[in-house]
Amino acid sequence: PVHHAALPRLRPDDVFIAVKTTRKNHGPRLRLLLRTWISRARRQTFIFTDGDDPELELQEAAGGRVINTNCSAVRTRQALCCKMSVEYDKFIESGRKWFCHVDDDNYVNPESLLHLLSSFSPSQDIYLGRPSLDHPIEATERVHGGRTATTVKFWFATGGAGFCLSRGLALKMSPWASLGSFMSTAERVRLPDDCTVGYIVEGLLGAHLLHSPLFHSHLENLQGLPQDTVLQQVTLSYGGPENPRNVVNVVGVFSLQQDPTRFKSVHCLLYPDTDWCPRQGDP
Ligand code: UDP
Ligand code: MN
Repeated sequence: PVHHAALPRLRPDDVFIAVKTTRKNHGPRLRLLLRTWISRARRQTFIFTDGDDPELELQEAAGGRVINTNCSAVRTRQALCCKMSVEYDKFIESGRKWFCHVDDDNYVNPESLLHLLSSFSPSQDIYLGRPSLDHPIEATERVHGGRTATTVKFWFATGGAGFCLSRGLALKMSPWASLGSFMSTAERVRLPDDCTVGYIVEGLLGAHLLHSPLFHSHLENLQGLPQDTVLQQVTLSYGGPENPRNVVNVVGVFSLQQDPTRFKSVHCLLYPDTDWCPRQGDP
C-alpha cells in the first residue's frame, strides 16, 4: 500500500459498512452478526434487507440502521443488483469516505478494516477486495440496444468476501451506478452485482482492483487460514449447511457444536469483555 503520512486519522464513522441480507436470513444469520461484530461497529453498519421484521430486537440492535430496499426477496440478478444499487445510493448520501459491502455470512473485524483503509486516501481511486477467479473475467458487453457486442475483460472482487470502494472512485461510478442505473449496467453485461462493480471500475473507468488477501469468502478453504492470523483478517465467512466443515480454525472458547460458524469464538478472542463470553480463567 501507498502510505500517506499527511492523511488525517481515519475514524470509524468515516466508513460505511453495508450488510446485504434477506428477510429469511434475519433469524438464522443476522442475529449472530448483531450479537458479534455489529455490536462493536454500530455506527458504521447499515443493514440492507427486503422485508420488515416485526422483531424489534433487530431494529434496536442495529440502532435503527436497517434499510428496507423494497427489492424483491429472490435470488435473481435483478433483485441482488437492486440491493447493491440502494447500498450505493445510501453511501453517496451518507457523505462518508469509504464504502464497504459484506454479505450476512461475513464476520468483519472493524479494527483491521480501519487499519487497512487508513493506508489509502479516499480521494484516490481505490477498489479493494479478493478476486473470485485467478484471472480476469471476460464478458460480452451489449450496447446500443443490443445491436453491437464487444468483449471486455476485468477483475472483480467476490461480494461474498466483502470489498471496499473509496468515495473518490464511487463518485466517478455514478453515471453507471446511481439512482437505479446500476441495474441497467448489470443488464448490459448480464452479470451478478459484484461482477458489475468490477465492470464499472475496471471496464468502464479504467481503474483497478487492488487484490487483498485479508478478505475471505466460503469459496476458499477457510480451515487453511493459519490459526495465528485469523484475528487479523478483515473479513471471515463460513461454509454453511452444504459445507459445515469449512470454517476458520480457532481453539478454545466454544465447541464446534456451540459455535458452528466459529464467529462467537472469534468474537470472544477479539473482545473477551463481552458479557456472554466465557470469563478468562474459567474452565
Ligand atoms: N441474498 C439475498 N437475497 C436472496 C438470497 C440471498 O439478498 O434471495 C443475500 C444473502 O443474504 C447473502 C448473499 O445474498 O448476503 C449471498 O447469499 P448466500 O450466502 O446464501 O449465497 P452464496 O452466493 O454465498 O452461496
Ligand atoms: Mn454466502
